[in-house]
Amino acid sequence: MAGRLLILGAPGAGKGTQAQRLAERYSIPHISTGDIFRSHTEKGTEFGKQIEDYMTSGRLVPDTLACEIIVKRLSEDDCSDGYILDGFPRSVPQAEHLEALLDKKGDSLDAALVLEVPDEEIVGRLTARRTCSGCGKIYNLQFQPPQEDGKCDEVDCEGAELLQREDDQEKTIRRRLDVYHETTEPLIDFYTRKGLRKSVESGNLTPDDIAAKIEKLLMAEGVC
Ligand code: AMP
Repeated sequence: MAGRLLILGAPGAGKGTQAQRLAERYSIPHISTGDIFRSHTEKGTEFGKQIEDYMTSGRLVPDTLACEIIVKRLSEDDCSDGYILDGFPRSVPQAEHLEALLDKKGDSLDAALVLEVPDEEIVGRLTARRTCSGCGKIYNLQFQPPQEDGKCDEVDCEGAELLQREDDQEKTIRRRLDVYHETTEPLIDFYTRKGLRKSVESGNLTPDDIAAKIEKLLMAEGVC
């Protein structure tokens, strides 16, 4: 059974990695607003130019632009049986917008997973994060290093270079954490009130351990 899931947590909590795994496990699309935005900035589209400064400085892109992107993406055919949202919503107005969109279609969310990681761990994790320039696979030099230094393991990538995101520099990480606490964290209460919050203590755990916890939780709750 597929589901409509979303994953919340501070930057570096492991949302992207876990969302990728859930997408594969349940055959649902992984929708990351950060990835969609980065593809616009990398291609230099008009939209990309509008959002670039927000992203490189670690601020949130305005709600109207984030909502516009998500409305478009969720209307695509592959979303009809469910999806995992990663990085959206990131503010209460975005969550309300999503709720109204789902209501209009007679749909609802199945779960809001919250990856709880202490702040002290986040900076270390993010400065060690690398992303494949070819397939987008996420590595962590501490927990999940590539077999060969600086190169993607995936055969199809033929040793594509691993890159550090510009917004994973320490100063920007601290700004992103502040933004998370101020603007995104209130969503935990928002989804708790709706009975959708599923917390996963993720500090000091490997991606495999976290994935196992999530799977157990979703099965116990009969979500997926
Ligand atoms: P992420 O890859 O999810 O860490 O997102 C990278 C950056 O994209 C964030 O720091 C924001 O600047 C922007 N971004 C991603 N998703 C959203 C969103 N839902 N609302 C506003 N800005 C976003």
